[in-house]
Amino acid sequence: MSPIAIAVHGGAGTLDPAAMTPEKEKAYRAALAAAVQRGHRLLASGGTALDAVEAAVRVLEDTPLFNAGRGSVFTADGGHQMDAAIMRGDDLRAGAVAAVQNVKNPVSLARRVMERSPHVLLSGRGAFEFAHAQRLELEDDAYFFDQLRYDQWQEVRGTAAVQLDHSVRERKFGTVGAVALDATGCLAAATSTGGMTNKRWGRIGDSPVPGAGTYANNATCAISCTGNGEAFLRAVAAHDVHALMAYKGLPLQEAVRIVVHEKLPPLDGEGGLIAIDRDGNVVLDFNCTGMYRAHIDHRGEEVAIFR
Ligand code: ASP
Repeated sequence: MSPIAIAVHGGAGTLDPAAMTPEKEKAYRAALAAAVQRGHRLLASGGTALDAVEAAVRVLEDTPLFNAGRGSVFTADGGHQMDAAIMRGDDLRAGAVAAVQNVKNPVSLARRVMERSPHVLLSGRGAFEFAHAQRLELEDDAYFFDQLRYDQWQEVRGTAAVQLDHSVRERKFGTVGAVALDATGCLAAATSTGGMTNKRWGRIGDSPVPGAGTYANNATCAISCTGNGEAFLRAVAAHDVHALMAYKGLPLQEAVRIVVHEKLPPLDGEGGLIAIDRDGNVVLDFNCTGMYRAHIDHRGEEVAIFR
């Protein structure tokens, strides 16, 4: 039996501790704890890593505190377009959706793409139609509305500026993700996001791209990233952590350090990632001031926001 472990994140960026009220911090911590505990309960009762990451991400998608599912950021044309991916480390199967609208839980749609279609990545209307055919829960635009996200969009509306959810006055941010190791030794990763505020219609970030924002391979690790998606795409960040372990024999922590602190910064890759290796070691690292994160491993549970 392998040790079980799970980690979740709710975004990383330039967080200002002064902008965080005790009430807000409490709400974020409670949501992160609820997500990681939900996933861990599944693992503890013999559930798969895949079930655990999906369940944990769904909890975070359902809270408007994070930029995924309900509470996703606004696109340049005033809508919400979400990206999500899920991947299993045993057979490297993956499923993903990009620029999808009105789907309550994009991570579950990504899983359906993996399990019930011959494809890996479905986008836009095709993804929506597939969700409909699969009878996944759909919601109207009002469900995804969040006043703070709307105000963030008003700051850049009509300009060419694209901003990370966190690089605004309020410094609220939060693509979400989860990585897990189950008792059979299987790893899985999932990521879900509304992307970047004022992004061009049809823009796709790193989150739904296997190897960029999401990756799992039982030979090495499972990874979920958050940050400036264009940089993470160019760095093929998640797969690079795997490659440093597989080809150079580096331990997880060192592989993550190289990607987060050496490879991403020259590409303007502000952000971080969560990772678990096949021995259940958890690494949560970022090159900015904070990352909403939580994990449960053999040492217990920890929830953190700032460094
Ligand atoms: N990586 C996401 C994207 O670029 C944004 C984020 O992590 O907040 O779509």
